[in-house]
This record gives sequence, structure tokens and C-alpha cells, in this order.
Amino acid sequence: MTEIAYIALGSNLDNPQQQVLQAITELDALPDTHITAVSPWYRSSPMGPSDQPDYINGIAELKTDLNPLPLLKALQAIEDAHQRVRQEHWGPRTLDLDMLLYGDQVIDHPELQVPHPGMATRNFVLFPLADIAPQLVLPNKTSLAELLENCPSEGIVRHSLGGICGTTG
Ligand code: ADP
Ligand code: MG
Repeated sequence: MTEIAYIALGSNLDNPQQQVLQAITELDALPDTHITAVSPWYRSSPMGPSDQPDYINGIAELKTDLNPLPLLKALQAIEDAHQRVRQEHWGPRTLDLDMLLYGDQVIDHPELQVPHPGMATRNFVLFPLADIAPQLVLPNKTSLAELLENCPSEGIVRHSLGGICGTTG
């Protein structure tokens, strides 16, 4: 069955803008999957260890026939192709791809929690998500608009890249 999934992209190493734009192309090339929207890009201060560069963050909206776990594996394969090295928790990375939402499903699997547990409080997720899906409501019926009311805007700025790959930023 075709579902809409939202994927958060983040990068703070090795030319982050190029990393995320390349990842958009790779997401669109996944089997039985295509991108239906890409948010503007944002620059954000790092979460966790602060001795690392700022991040570029954005969101892709996908239409996919892949089930959630195969989609997660496909996201991890793209991360690996970007030479992502897994070191410290919340440490710098060339590419992070997190599955925020998969249709209206709630998933609690050892390898996959959906909605993504951190999404409700992270401005670098909520701001770009609101740019492409302002009417979104989470499976627990909380609206994105409500989450944004309680979300500080510190440490984040919109970072226009000028319409590459269908971006509107
Ligand atoms: P983080 O994104 O929190 O910095 P990682 O990208 O290294 O951390 O992910 C660690 C693990 O998170 C992965 O091995 C994956 O199985 C798990 N995970 C759980 N839920 C999700 C999700 N919704 N999207 C992506 N990864 C997830
Ligand atoms: Mg991740």
C-alpha cells in the first residue's frame, strides 16, 4: 500500500549542503518510492556536544510502497554510502536520515520507533515540516501547529539554497 512518509535529513560534515542535496536524489531513486516535497533548508546549532559544526537540516516527503523496516534499511544504506562513521552519540555526521512519520502508523520496534521520539520538541524538525505540511496531525492527534506553539526558535535560521532539486527555500 502506498503511504506518505516524512524523512528528516541532517548533516554537519564534508559539505553539508551537498550531502543533503545528494541524499534527496538518492531518496527519490529508491524502489517504489518518490519524493513529493522538499522543505527549505535550515542551519541549526548542534544538539549535544557543542564542539562540532552547525547542521543543515530539512525534510523530505515521500510516497512509498516500501514497508517501514525496509524503508529504514534503505535510509541506513544511504547513510552508509555517505561514509557515515558512527562514533559518539549526537556526534558530527555526514548524513543522518530519520523516519519521522509513516502514514498514521505508530511503530514500536527495537530498531524503529515512529513517530520519531525526538520530533515533537526539535525546532530543526518542526520548522521545515511546517513549511511543507502545515496541517499535519500526529497519530496521537496532536497537531503540528500545537507543537510549534511550544517550540523555541533559538539556534536555527532558514538557509536558502535557491530551488535546487525542487526545494522552495
Ligand atoms: P540519532 O539519529 O538519534 O542521532 P542514529 O542515527 O545513530 O541516532 O540512529 C540510531 C538508531 O536509531 C538506528 O540504529 C535505528 O535503528 C534507530 N531508530 C529508531 N527509530 C528510528 C527512526 N524513526 N528513524 C531512524 N532511526 C531510528
Ligand atoms: Mg538517525
